[in-house]
This record gives sequence, structure tokens and C-alpha cells, in this order.
Amino acid sequence: MKITSVRTAVIDGNFPWVLVRIETDEGITGLGEAYWGVGVAELVHKAGPLIVGENPFNIGKITELLIRCLSGEGSSGGATVTAISGIEIALWDLVGRALNTPIYNLFGGRFRDQIRVYADCHAGATPDPASYAERAKSVAGAGFTAIKFDLDTPNPYTRDISDDPHPRRQWCEPWNRTIGAAERNWMVDVVAAVREAVGPDIMVAMDAHWKFSTNDAILLAQALEPFDLLWLEDPVPPENIEAQRMVTHSTRTPICTGENLYRKHGFRELIEKQAARIIAPDIPKMGGLMEAKKVADWADTYYIPVAPHNVASPIGTVASSHVCAAMNNFLVIEFHAHDVEWWKDLVDGTPPIVDGFIAMTDAPGHGLTLNEDVARANLKPGSSFFGEYPYEC
Ligand code: MG
Repeated sequence: MKITSVRTAVIDGNFPWVLVRIETDEGITGLGEAYWGVGVAELVHKAGPLIVGENPFNIGKITELLIRCLSGEGSSGGATVTAISGIEIALWDLVGRALNTPIYNLFGGRFRDQIRVYADCHAGATPDPASYAERAKSVAGAGFTAIKFDLDTPNPYTRDISDDPHPRRQWCEPWNRTIGAAERNWMVDVVAAVREAVGPDIMVAMDAHWKFSTNDAILLAQALEPFDLLWLEDPVPPENIEAQRMVTHSTRTPICTGENLYRKHGFRELIEKQAARIIAPDIPKMGGLMEAKKVADWADTYYIPVAPHNVASPIGTVASSHVCAAMNNFLVIEFHAHDVEWWKDLVDGTPPIVDGFIAMTDAPGHGLTLNEDVARANLKPGSSFFGEYPYEC
């Protein structure tokens, strides 16, 4: 079997969902997805001719070939690795279909039949903690057993909010990374309100989007200890592993990070220094299914669970879930499209997420069939539907 083409269709979801289709000379195709980003679709098309003629079963060799051939494009991280991730996922789907077996069987089989999903809730309708509580109740009521909110959203105590035309600067004081006492108390009130609203059995995570200084992150994490959070995510910027380690080792609140890291090399220091209690690789971004499995196995040598970051369409979400089924240390995977009504309609058949879980089926590959009508109707302006490059995307 030989690869004959590699093409993309960018779907205009709540993020651009970069779908990757790989075709072969035997008529078997694979469908993958890459995380969004400027130039990702272009890089997929640039990678295509490098692997046309290759045997699609040689996924390890193909990804290594792309890493080496696209080194000039920056294949140690960023958009190039993201593009390769989309190709890699399409190849696993293709190989699974060729062998008539689900992807999880290609990674050692499954530890679980159901993949737990957490719903990203973003924020309340207003900064009032009661509004967060209302949103939490509503999402948990939809069947999710795990939810996440953003803690770095606008609050009544944000400084320099007046006459600032740029809304992002109205988030917590943007430049010195400090948290004022009033702001911290507001965050504690939000977490307390959410916890009280959903009770002790719903898992609750909070995301801080890399906003705070090391010391203020520690103070915040300690203040949140009574609320039994699933994790506090990215309280400090991502690039200083030593700062991550200090926060992690200063609090009983579990610290989670990893969505900005690429390939196993990007996770090496984080894992070896045990600088996070939970890691959050974004699988269609950081290198794909096999790279994520390698990172998960490495993390497991320190008993660190894996909770993938995920903003993908059903294709990337379910493909990622297959490798999560094969990780003993999988915890929960993100769902970031709770408010996108047609997310589930992008594929045929049963909605991929039912009552907060993704059921693993025996269907080959990732088991999904793209609904081409829905895909075409939501094609990102300027993108073709698995057509020839170049086009604007
Ligand atoms: Mg995050």
C-alpha cells in the first residue's frame, strides 16, 4: 500500500478544525485532525509530497522523516509539529481501517470502555460567583462528571480596567503577574460557589492561563486547597519548569500543565522534575497519538496522570480518546465545544459524547465517518474541501 495524497479541509468551528485526509493506491483512506494555527494547513500540504509513495503502515518512520525534512520550518515545536500531528492521526485511522481494528488495539488495547470527558465552561455570564455556580449546575446537569472554569476572567477587582480599549488587558493585572487580596478572595468565592453548586462528587478544575507570579500562584493554590480541585491549571507561565516545580511542591492543590509543550522532548524536564501533578498534552498539537503514548508512559514512571487538553472536532477528540483508552494513567479529556450545537453533527451516527463519556466501539480506525454536508456547510471561508493546494486558509 502506498500513500497517494495528503489534503485538508478547514472547518469553521469554535476553533478552526484542520481535518487531514490521506488517500492510498488501494482506496483506503484515513482522516485525522491537527490543532488550529496559522500556516498549519499549508504545512500539511507542504509535508504531503514528502510522504507520497510511502507505506502508510510505517508511521514511526514517516513522522521522523517529516520532523527531519521540515526542520527548516521549525519541526521541534509549533505549527510544524501540529501539522505532522494531523498527518500522524490520519495514518493511524488509515492503518486501523486497513487492518479492520480500532486504533486502541494498535496501542495495546483498552484499559476502559468509556473515556471520561470534562466540559470546559469558561466563565459565568457575569463575574458574580453565583453566575459561575449556575453555569456549573447547568453543565453538570447535562451529564458531565467533570467540569472546568477559567479563573483569570474579568472580575470586579481587576485593576487598570478604566479607559483601556483592549479587552484582554482588562483581565487580572496583565503586566506584573500579581494577584491582589481582593482578586484572590473573588477567585476563592468563585471556586467555593462552583463546588457548593455541584457537590463533592463532580470533578472541578480551574484554569489560570499562565497569568501569575510564582509566589502569588502558590498563595492562590493554597487558598483553594479546601475545595478539593481536580487541578489548578497553568497558574504560572509555561516556559520555566523550575517555577512550575516550586508551585507544584508548595500546595496540596494538584497543578496541571502541558498544553504548550511539543513532542516527548518538550515534556522531558517537566516529567523528570515532577514539576506537575497532572500533565495535559494536546494530542493533535504535540505530535500525535504515538508521541502522546510515549509521553504518557514516561509520566507513568512518576505516577503522573494524563488529562489531555483538547479543542478538536469529533475527529481529533475521538482519535485522541482511542490512545487514552490504551493509557493506564489516563484521567480525563477536555471537551471545549459545549456551546457548539453542531459539533456532534460533523460525524454520522450516534453523538460521540453521551452523558459526559465517549464510548469506545469496535469500529475500525477511530470509527467516525465525516458528515460531508455538515462539513461543507461549515467550511472555513477560503478553504477547499480536501482539494489541491494552494488556497487561502
Ligand atoms: Mg488551559
